[in-house]
Amino acid sequence: ASGYTLMRDPRHNKGLAFTERERDAHYLRGLLPPIVLSQELQEKRIMHMLRQYKVPLQRYMAMMDLQERNERLFYKLLIDNVEELLPVVYTPTVGEACQKYGSIFRRPQGLYISLKEKGKILEVLKNWPERSVQVIVVTDGERILGLGDLGCQGMGIPVGKLSLYTALGGVRPSACLPITIDVGTNNEKLLNNEFYIGLRQRRATGQEYAELLHEFMSAVKQNYGEKVLIQVIIDFANHNAFELLARYRSSHLVFNDDIQGTASVVLAGLLAALKLLGGTLADHRFLFLGAGEAGTGIAELIALEMSKQTGNPIEENRKKIWLVDSKGLIVDSRKHSLQHFKKPWAHEHEPVSKLVDAVKAIKPTVLIGTSGVGKQFTREVVEAMASINEKPLIMALSNPTSQAECTAEEAYTWSEGRAIFASGSPFDPFEYDGKVFVPGQANNAYIFPGFGLGVIMSGAIRVHDDMLLTASEALAAQVTEEHFKKGLIYPPFSDIRKISANIAAKVAAKAYELGLASHLPQPEDLVKYAESCMYSPVYRSYR
Ligand code: NAP
Repeated sequence: ASGYTLMRDPRHNKGLAFTERERDAHYLRGLLPPIVLSQELQEKRIMHMLRQYKVPLQRYMAMMDLQERNERLFYKLLIDNVEELLPVVYTPTVGEACQKYGSIFRRPQGLYISLKEKGKILEVLKNWPERSVQVIVVTDGERILGLGDLGCQGMGIPVGKLSLYTALGGVRPSACLPITIDVGTNNEKLLNNEFYIGLRQRRATGQEYAELLHEFMSAVKQNYGEKVLIQVIIDFANHNAFELLARYRSSHLVFNDDIQGTASVVLAGLLAALKLLGGTLADHRFLFLGAGEAGTGIAELIALEMSKQTGNPIEENRKKIWLVDSKGLIVDSRKHSLQHFKKPWAHEHEPVSKLVDAVKAIKPTVLIGTSGVGKQFTREVVEAMASINEKPLIMALSNPTSQAECTAEEAYTWSEGRAIFASGSPFDPFEYDGKVFVPGQANNAYIFPGFGLGVIMSGAIRVHDDMLLTASEALAAQVTEEHFKKGLIYPPFSDIRKISANIAAKVAAKAYELGLASHLPQPEDLVKYAESCMYSPVYRSYR
């Protein structure tokens, strides 16, 4: 290729880092100013520039520009500055970016499959230039990150998630494919926005939707085979994500991060916290505020892990887990009117309508918020938890920060410094009574990149719940004494590549054990193997 082409290919471009020899060998002389920079110096320069931007969206756009210009430099920045840049390329900034996607749209990233492509989805997939795709993240933009219906502009989410598969999990960028399925939007604002990039119609539902999705799932399998991991961020309008998962999990390698990833990362925090609280999982009692996708998904994985540890049937373990929804405690007298995924949690009890009364009645050791509604863990609720437990474990998982059930400060203050606290959105460390508490963040990005790598490197053809349990255990095992002293139940994010390699190795080992792995023979040292599989953003030299 000519030097000019080389420079314009983001996968190969090195900008000012092309060496003298490369400039001679690849007809780059004169196309670049005379100076040669190291990748480290390029990184320093761009980080300096990014920090000048005070508006998060500007940082996001600068990062997207970099990704389109120089892919390796983009990933080097992301990997080396993960704590600083994660909120830029992912939540919360990516949410704002999606809302304004039409206006900031430059060059398309990923594949768009709309109702117009019905009957032609296989052809569309073939238009994608990469042949060896290993992870697809697909969304229909209906309900992501608590932002409501983003329609076609939800594309920012798969793009962002996949950049984390690469940066945190080491999946090669060329193996990642972001897809948006556009069946319309019910978002009036978007429908009336002249810059909206999607189909200008209300959402197709029912059979029309199901058929398009089915064609998509079949086409993916036909084009890429069984071993492509499909992460779905999809919420059927009339049905729900559980049904979708149930429908495709026996025929495809599907993973729903909102349900399975969330459950796995929360379980990891609980398993780590047990070292502080004492006892086994089955010795504890759990109360959830919120019985939706996240709440019931987490509850089920906790019950599964209890079964794994005790050998008791799952029905018995479910009895240790209680959920409150918008109508109060889920109890057996409500059974006839409950959605099917809530039914397993309807235990024998009097009706209780208020959370604080449920806390007093159930006496949970662990309180988990997955309601999406902020400020529900009031002083009364936290004090009730603290009067029942020496160390109340409180997880306020609802995002964004404004929707958190309580803040870190509230949890620590109202429990007089006894709470073990983690949240969905990050909170700053907080000093109480001379001690600095560092709240843990139950961020899904702890699990899905390493999980994905484990699935890919073993050539797994299905996702089994035991692989999720294993991922949780692997993450929990990374929390050290030193972290516990600060109150953390998750390890620091700065170690994420190492953490991901460990999760990947354990997930792969489980896939082999279950007979789901197709990459044979099994590598001897799976951690080493995981590390060797991981993408490195360091420039290659072109001779
Ligand atoms: P969802 O499916 O809409 O479920 C919300 C649940 O909360 C429903 O059961 C709802 O009750 C209940 N609820 C709503 N308002 C309530 C109130 N005032 N009192 C009691 N219960 C109430 O939502 P989701 O997908 O599960 O997500 C819930 C939250 O979890 C979101 O804020 C999301 O950001 C967060 N989340 C966090 C993580 C993480 O931290 N890693 C991951 C995923 C999700 P009804 O069933 O009666 O309507």
